[in-house]
Amino acid sequence: MWRIFVESLVGLILLFAASIYGYEYLIYGKTDPDLVDANLRVEAFRDIMNHVSTNESDEQAIELMELFAKKTHRLLEQYPQDKLPEAISEYFKENQDTHFLLNDDSHLWLKFDNNPNYFELSDDPDSELIKAIEFGNQVVWLFFLASFVAFSFVLIWFLSRRLRVLEKTAMEFASGNFTARASERHWVRLGKLNRTFNRMATKIADLMISNKALTNAVAHELRTPIFRIQWQSEILLEQIKDPEAKKQLTSIIEDTEDMEKLVDELLYYARVERPDAAINLETVNLVEWLKENHAKWEHHIGQKFLLQTYQTELPTQIDGFLLCRALVNLVGNAKRYAKDAIVVKVVPDSDHIAIEVHDDGIGIDPEHWSMLFEPFYRVDKARDRASGGYGLGLAIVKHIMLRHGGDVEVSHSELGGACFSLILPIRKEP
Ligand code: ATP
Ligand code: MG
Repeated sequence: MWRIFVESLVGLILLFAASIYGYEYLIYGKTDPDLVDANLRVEAFRDIMNHVSTNESDEQAIELMELFAKKTHRLLEQYPQDKLPEAISEYFKENQDTHFLLNDDSHLWLKFDNNPNYFELSDDPDSELIKAIEFGNQVVWLFFLASFVAFSFVLIWFLSRRLRVLEKTAMEFASGNFTARASERHWVRLGKLNRTFNRMATKIADLMISNKALTNAVAHELRTPIFRIQWQSEILLEQIKDPEAKKQLTSIIEDTEDMEKLVDELLYYARVERPDAAINLETVNLVEWLKENHAKWEHHIGQKFLLQTYQTELPTQIDGFLLCRALVNLVGNAKRYAKDAIVVKVVPDSDHIAIEVHDDGIGIDPEHWSMLFEPFYRVDKARDRASGGYGLGLAIVKHIMLRHGGDVEVSHSELGGACFSLILPIRKEP
């Protein structure tokens, strides 16, 4: 916003300078009528004074000029020709027929026919009136500048207020709330931008929903044919005797089992991802809950791991089934990559509890961290295909944690591999 402010201020000043320049060029480009007028007045004044000096007396003319100077807050000086400033003397030498000169600094030089001296009329620097005029001339630009600053500031303030509403909605939408829409009330909308954003958001949300519905429907529809192939292959396996054919059929059955698991995983992901998916929160002492389930998980995953808890009492609210699934997914991944050690650590702070799963495997490069929890994201495609994962495990973990009002994060582990942290808010009451 500061950049837009500075840009609009500089733009305004440049535009103003250009318009002043254009005005000067058009109005005063060839002949300056103000200057012509001033010269005519000076000439008339000089002629009157010259007339008095010639027809009355020099003293009378000087007296009248002194009166004029006094009335108009000016000073009158007399110079013999040899005391004239060089530039003025040069001017009168070059323009023998001219009897007056009006300088750029408003100094007026006069010469009479019957007097060898020159007269100078200049603004009296001690006069209050002259001081006020000079002050006015100097501060007028400050007033212009101040009004430009004020205008740019107010404009940017109004714009930024409206932009913030749009930005907040865009952030909300980007973080997964596809129902987020920008207000279209006239005092918060930014032209047609809010309506256009909302239309785009609706289109994207519709697309996402229809995409999800399609995946869901396909997964559902696949279940029956997969089951039928599996079931018929098993019947066939019992009937045929040829060992080569038996081997091929067994491989088909294994493949259908894999497909069945993928379909189950897809349907589970679709369930957990739905914003209205049910969650059964119950208050537990997390330390006890972890200790109670430790052996069960080791058995289920087929992998021993160390559970480190330094507290005895950490009350929070969890859905036991969902959190269990998240932990099993993480330890299952760690098992695939760890060399020797997997450690699950509980690290509480003032308002969150982190359940960290560390391993001493190859770790994950930070360039993958932002995408890692997207469904089907693979760090290393060849390695993942060989390991047989579907690429849905971490996406499921992410949604389980969001359901809990928490999150999941990835980092480097002090053991040398990856560290995944399940972040849970500390909540004692529903
Ligand atoms: P699924 O869990 O669905 O069976 P998957 O394990 O391949 O399949 P995710 O659990 O989502 O999928 O993991 C995504 C990718 O992140 C993995 O393919 C793997 O490359 C990488 N990854 C996950 N955990 C680790 C880990 N502990 N160490 C190194 N890489 C990991
Ligand atoms: Mg996995």
